[in-house]
Amino acid sequence: MKSTDVLIIGAGIAGSAAALRLARNPNRRIILITRNPDPHESNTRWAQGGIIHRSQEDSPELLIHDILAAGAGASLPAAAQILAEEGPARLEEFLMQEGGVHFDRDTGGRLAYGQEAAHSVRRILHVGDGTGQAIIKALITAVRSHPNIELLTKATAVDLITYPHHSRKPLDTYQPIACHGAYVFDRNGSAVHRTLAAVTILATGGLGRIYRNTTNPPGSQGDGLAMAHRAGARIINAEYVQFHPTALAIPGAEGFLISEAVRGEGGVLLTPEGTPFMEKYSPEWKDLAPRDVVAIAIHSEMEANGYSHVLLDIASHMSANQLRERFPNIYAECMRVGLDITREPIPVVPAAHYFCGGVYVDLWGHTTIQNCYAVGEVSCTGLHGANRLASTSLLEGLVWGTRAAEHIEETFRFSAPRTLSRDDVPPWDESGLTQEADNTLIQGDMQTIQNIMWHYVGLIRSGDRLSRAIRELRHLQNEIETFYRTTKLSDGLIGLRNAVEVALIVAQAARHNRQSRGCHYRTDSMAAGDRLL
Ligand SMILES: Cc1cc2nc3c(=O)[nH]c(=O)nc-3n(C[C@H](O)[C@H](O)[C@H](O)COP(=O)(O)OP(=O)(O)OC[C@H]3O[C@@H](n4cnc5c(N)ncnc54)[C@H](O)[C@@H]3O)c2cc1C
Repeated sequence: MKSTDVLIIGAGIAGSAAALRLARNPNRRIILITRNPDPHESNTRWAQGGIIHRSQEDSPELLIHDILAAGAGASLPAAAQILAEEGPARLEEFLMQEGGVHFDRDTGGRLAYGQEAAHSVRRILHVGDGTGQAIIKALITAVRSHPNIELLTKATAVDLITYPHHSRKPLDTYQPIACHGAYVFDRNGSAVHRTLAAVTILATGGLGRIYRNTTNPPGSQGDGLAMAHRAGARIINAEYVQFHPTALAIPGAEGFLISEAVRGEGGVLLTPEGTPFMEKYSPEWKDLAPRDVVAIAIHSEMEANGYSHVLLDIASHMSANQLRERFPNIYAECMRVGLDITREPIPVVPAAHYFCGGVYVDLWGHTTIQNCYAVGEVSCTGLHGANRLASTSLLEGLVWGTRAAEHIEETFRFSAPRTLSRDDVPPWDESGLTQEADNTLIQGDMQTIQNIMWHYVGLIRSGDRLSRAIRELRHLQNEIETFYRTTKLSDGLIGLRNAVEVALIVAQAARHNRQSRGCHYRTDSMAAGDRLL
């Protein structure tokens, strides 16, 4: 059993930034855990494009305008204002000064700002096309330099410890729900330990892996969302899952992102027979239509014609030298799996990319459970509304990770939340469980979830598809719950149980919301103002 002031679950940009801010108080004890053996591995590590800063031509008002426009009327203005006003200073303080990240500069030594879709001006800082990798390397190095942060790898949180649920006293039933840490599965010793904490921060990232096609790495299956849901937290905007139009569709490199810049440089989408199709869906913009329009167009072609993918031809529009120079990582990754993009078109599919909804938090990252915060992609500050503006998510993780830490420090200053003792919380009981988890079953069930989500809760939704998804997921959840209760724990089994729960949360939110908005598109959409049944 462990005991600490603050337990942070997840070591991506949001969790690491929170840990660094808290560690400035040398008396504060922090435990930072990640399920991965390598603490760098996370969605953060794979971010390509960059992170928002503020260029000379920019202003907070302009950024707020762009965020609200992308959010399709559902972004919270107060959250956009915080990001726009505080973001650049926090980026400088934590990433440039403390982390020492060297963002790209122009020949004159000035920060080189990139342009992305739906941004009014250039404002994106980057480190080549490996921005996330540079950021997480800097953050983890900084985390390791603080003696009051204990970084634990191969440590998978199973469930939050909450009162009254885990209390031994019946009268606690009448108290508000409060969090006191988590049960954590230690993969080194294959045992579940209690980690008791005065305050807990969920920073477990997104849920792309509940879909068949995704840009997210393994482990992004919504663990924090599921844990918070089981504990009774409020979840919002779960129907808003953002899809990226072009992820690589080659075995061995599935989900690798093919940047929008490839279409920006003249790349054209083709059916597998070689026919361009974007004009049909967007006569004005064709291949440069907004992300959601292109993703839905590709999905429609695939569904209507039974294609497993479509093609993206850049070889006919750029010379081999230009291509290798402009897209070195994409070129290298495709070569690794046997595709020479200077000669052949690239097989692509849309893929689940980002979760705009999440655990409801206030403007300081506090959830509806006492002493429990959520930051980064697992949370919903309201910033992204129904559709995320590109490159806002890394900054959101940084801003709310550090804001939550500051709020926690204030709380400790005025009245420190109570840390429980070992007698207050029952140990994890695995007695009688002898059967090891069957990986074939875990993989098979995971693929079933991914297929249901892809076909029925994907880019194009309808009441019938969503109802079918919910029926099938409920049946599967019963099976998985029995499996979970009768089998020894493993990281895969914990993830599977969370994946089916999260899939149901998304499907139910999507069925409940009959109005198409942002990245939630229903063929049976009601007009705004119709009465919801
Ligand atoms: C391919 C790709 C490209 C992207 N490009 C950009 C971009 O250019 N700009 C931008 O702003 N955003 C981008 N994004 C989105 C952005 O990367 C993420 O939204 C952001 O990194 C999320 O950070 P996070 O800290 O919330 O979560 P993550 O970085 O995903 O970290 C989650 C952490 O939680 C841990 N964890 C999960 N479950 C458990 C558990 N049960 N127990 C213990 N630990 C657990 C994980 O191991 C990990 O340490 C991109 C995403 C992808 C996938």
